[in-house]
Amino acid sequence: PVFYVGAGTCGLGAGADRMMQRLVSYLTENEIQAKVVEVGCIGLCSDEPLLDVQLPGRTRLIFRKVTENNVISIVKAVLQGKIPLENLLGQHTSQELESWANIPYLHEHPFFAPQKRWVLKNCGLLDPTSVEEYMAYGGYQALARTLQTMTPLEVCDEIEMSGLRGRGGGGFPTGRKWKFALNTPAEQRYMICNADEGDPGAFMDRAIIEGDPHRVLEGLMIAAYAIGATKAYIYIRAEYPLAIARLNKAIEQARELGLIGENILDSGFNFDVTIKKGAGAFVCGEETALIHSIEGKRGMPRPRPPYPAVNGLFQKPSVINNVETLANIPEIILQGASAFAQIGTEKSKGTKVFALSGKIERTGLVEIPMGTRLWELVFTIGGGVSDGRTFKAVQIGGPSGGCIPQEHLDIPIDYESLKAVGAMMGSGGLVVVDDKTCMVDLAKFFMDFIQRESCGKCIPCREGTRQMLEILNIISRGRRSESGYDALERMKSIMYLERLAEVIKDTSLCGLGQSAPNPVLSTLRWFRDEYDAHIYERQ
Ligand code: SF4
Repeated sequence: PVFYVGAGTCGLGAGADRMMQRLVSYLTENEIQAKVVEVGCIGLCSDEPLLDVQLPGRTRLIFRKVTENNVISIVKAVLQGKIPLENLLGQHTSQELESWANIPYLHEHPFFAPQKRWVLKNCGLLDPTSVEEYMAYGGYQALARTLQTMTPLEVCDEIEMSGLRGRGGGGFPTGRKWKFALNTPAEQRYMICNADEGDPGAFMDRAIIEGDPHRVLEGLMIAAYAIGATKAYIYIRAEYPLAIARLNKAIEQARELGLIGENILDSGFNFDVTIKKGAGAFVCGEETALIHSIEGKRGMPRPRPPYPAVNGLFQKPSVINNVETLANIPEIILQGASAFAQIGTEKSKGTKVFALSGKIERTGLVEIPMGTRLWELVFTIGGGVSDGRTFKAVQIGGPSGGCIPQEHLDIPIDYESLKAVGAMMGSGGLVVVDDKTCMVDLAKFFMDFIQRESCGKCIPCREGTRQMLEILNIISRGRRSESGYDALERMKSIMYLERLAEVIKDTSLCGLGQSAPNPVLSTLRWFRDEYDAHIYERQ
């Protein structure tokens, strides 16, 4: 048998390493011939630690909440041909489970059934440290096809035709961005993978790299070829040690196979990649700040234009794509632009990975076709609000995003629909809020975050966010005797808050400042009664 242990950061945080140690010692002590493989996160983080058991010729079984205390009883039962229902992932009747042949597949579980796993297809299933496994499942075939049968312009065209848009938040068409760099004359260009994931509640990039690092690397190589770059950087936050280790291993393996180096696959294409660790500043996710950081300067944004695709790293044309964008590429090349374009909506093609967190029954990582209704994501996939509470809102898009109330739960998840209700796709963090949460406090949390992360270069963002935070504190502080403010003054402060928000949006230098007021504006738009309650009911 083969035992797969979900050992992403989420699994390890839940105790997967202790469970694995116990499992390995049991197998060794009892001389059971078995293989134990560490895999990345399959997505269902709330049920970690997860253990998959693959017996020859049998369905692969996934057990949830397996600890060092119950792992041996589960393993013994499975080896004896019994199925411990209590821990088996899925909602199955005992009738269904009467025989091994009737065990439902993973994709029948409500968490997985509505998903379309294009980017996450290997995550949690393959050994991320084995290039052989990646290749056995079609890995690096897209690179070979690209280098041997396509010109750089044809690759750009294919990606443009697929309709892929940047998954880091901006949603800019990826193929068009690549063409800007390709069409800018230069003797050197750079390809950069942005893995500086910093939104509170977002962990998509980390999980993709931990679970399937070769996919990201292959996407990066194809992108480099497409824009005519021979050198790439992966900018990743230092707080992701496991993801960095997985990337290092993947790079080493690709180098040994001749996929990194000179004249790759006899195509004449040369490629090298360097990992650059970031110190965790949120602003370094902004393209020009990230470039400064790689150059060894302080990570501060600069005005655009010139855009990095024309004048970027070391003043050379550079393309920056985030992890999920790049992880989409190999499959688009293999299955074709039209296969990708068939998924999703007219303007938002393909799938999107979301990190579900907050007051939701099933937290974790999901990948859904664009256009999926928001309620389906929260209630069918996520299982609804946890602890028997009532749904109030979802906060989507991180500190640059906004809240969506119950009455808009029916909207399709795509770039335009989210924007229409004052939110944004962002990188994919989705936090569910229940009826116990104060929306003014939520807005304060994000404003406090942004205020701390503002790089301080421009006044509207540096001073404006500080003032907005101060006003939010005044509004929520309580009675007059403590705050020194009466209702009228606090009411005026809401008007001031709105005016300030508009000024910050209009005049800040970079996206961080321009989107900083969004959580406040969207809570004011949908939950103004909660602001009023702070003002009037505490007199
Ligand atoms: Fe820095 Fe904020 Fe200005 Fe961006 S908007 S440059 S983060 S101060």
